[in-house]
Amino acid sequence: MAVLPVRLFGDPVLTMPAAEVTTFDAELRRLVRNLRDTLRDQQGAGLAAPQLGVSVRAFVFHVEDLEGHLINPVLRFPDEEEQDGPEGCLSMPGLYFDTVRRQNVVAKGFNEHGDPLQIVGAGYLARCLQHETDHVDGVLFIDRMDRERRKAAMKAIRLAEWNNEPAPRVKISPHPVTHRSR
Ligand SMILES: [Zn+2]
Repeated sequence: MAVLPVRLFGDPVLTMPAAEVTTFDAELRRLVRNLRDTLRDQQGAGLAAPQLGVSVRAFVFHVEDLEGHLINPVLRFPDEEEQDGPEGCLSMPGLYFDTVRRQNVVAKGFNEHGDPLQIVGAGYLARCLQHETDHVDGVLFIDRMDRERRKAAMKAIRLAEWNNEPAPRVKISPHPVTHRSR
């Protein structure tokens, strides 16, 4: 079991787009295991690789009875329906802010062995899949808020106790990757 420290808001690894996984090897499976162990320890809904300082497109999630992971996630929205409600992030511990998200999502990607995988999510699962996919794009949930909500969130973040600790160094994974053109 490997529970690793979660990178906090302000760490540059959280705002850089992560690299696509091209090799589904033992190192990737170790990363998925570390993500799962850390997520269980933190009792969160989702955790993305950049939050452990590894800038690759992978995340794990645990929503209600559904626990899983997704590599190289791509989202599709089957309709226009939205949801609004509280959202949190293990990189901003203890803080929850209302965030508008899509209600329904189809997430496509791969499992840790490179097999294609599709997850259809609604409600909180859909929220989690959007939050974690944002993480591998270097996007944080405060970036999804309107100006007023974002201002209130930034104030709470400034006041948070954990925000007064120095950020750790960015670790770039030795995992072979190619950068996604966008
Ligand atoms: Zn998060």
